[in-house]
Amino acid sequence: MAGVVNKVVLITGGSGGLGRVLAQAFARQGSRVVISARSAAKLQAAAEEIGRGGGEVLALPCDVTEKKQVEDLAAAIGARWGAVEILINNAGVARAAGILETTETMWDEILRTNLTGAFYCCQAFLPGMIEAKWGRIINIGSTTSKVGYSHVAAYVSSKHGLLGLTRALALETARLGITVNAICPGYLDDELTRDNAQRMAAKTGKSVEQILASFASTAPQRRLIDPEEVAGLALLLASDQLGGMTGQAVSVDGGATMS
Ligand code: NDP
Repeated sequence: MAGVVNKVVLITGGSGGLGRVLAQAFARQGSRVVISARSAAKLQAAAEEIGRGGGEVLALPCDVTEKKQVEDLAAAIGARWGAVEILINNAGVARAAGILETTETMWDEILRTNLTGAFYCCQAFLPGMIEAKWGRIINIGSTTSKVGYSHVAAYVSSKHGLLGLTRALALETARLGITVNAICPGYLDDELTRDNAQRMAAKTGKSVEQILASFASTAPQRRLIDPEEVAGLALLLASDQLGGMTGQAVSVDGGATMS
C-alpha cells in the first residue's frame, strides 16, 4: 500500500489480539514494525511469529502508563530506525463493574492505559512527525467512544476521552502533513472478548456461547468483528491515499453505531 512500505510503525499493545494482527498486516505490506507492551515474553513470541512471515519487526517492552518508559521507547526506536512515522495507540484494558463497584484503582488503571498512555505516546512521537512533515496517528477507540454502555463507565470514559484527544490533535496538526484518526471497532472476535464473555458467564450462569451471541446481537450484522477488518482500515488510514481525512472516528462495528 502506497505510503506504508519501509515506514516505521509503532503499535502499542502489539503483542495482544488486535495489536498483533495490526503488526502482522503492516509487516506484510513491508513496513518496519515496532511492537511494544509490558510483557517481554509475549512480545518476543509475537515478534517471532511476525518474523517467520518475513516481516521486519522490533519488540521493545514499554508500559504506556509510565511517561519515562514511553520517552525511553522513543529514544530506543530513534537509535535503531529513526523517527516513528505511523503511531497506532492500541494498548488498552477493559474491566466491567457498576459505578459503585468501580474502585479508584480500577478507574485509574483504565484511564491511564487507554487515555493517558495515548497522550504520552502522542507527545513522544509527534515531534519526529512534525520534523518530517508527514505522520499518521491512529487511535484505537471503540463503539464506547461514541455511545454509553452500562457497567463499563471507566472504559467508556477513557474511550470517549480518546476521541476528544483525536479531534483536538487533528486540529493542532492539520497543516503539518499529519493526520489523526480513530478506529472504533465493535466486539472483536478475539481473546479479550472471550475473556469478558467467560467472566460474564461465571457471574450470570449463562454459557460463554450465549454471552458471545448476546455481544453479536448488539450489531445489526449479528456478528463479531474480525480483527483483520480493523487492520485493513488502519492500512488505508496510514497510507498516502487518505491524507485529507483527519479528526475522524470510523466505526467497524457491523452497524452498531451510526454517528
Ligand atoms: P488484548 O487484551 O488482547 O491486548 C491488549 C494489549 O495491550 C496487549 O498486548 C497488552 O500486553 C497491552 N497492554 C495492556 N496494558 C498495557 C500498558 N499499560 N502498556 C503497554 N501495553 C499494554 O486487547 P485487544 O487486542 O482486544 O484490544 C486492543 C485495543 O482494541 C484496545 O484498545 C481495546 O480497548 C480495543 N478494542 C477491543 C475490542 C474487543 O472486542 N476486543 C473492541 C473495541 C476496541 P501486556 O499486558 O503485556 O502489556
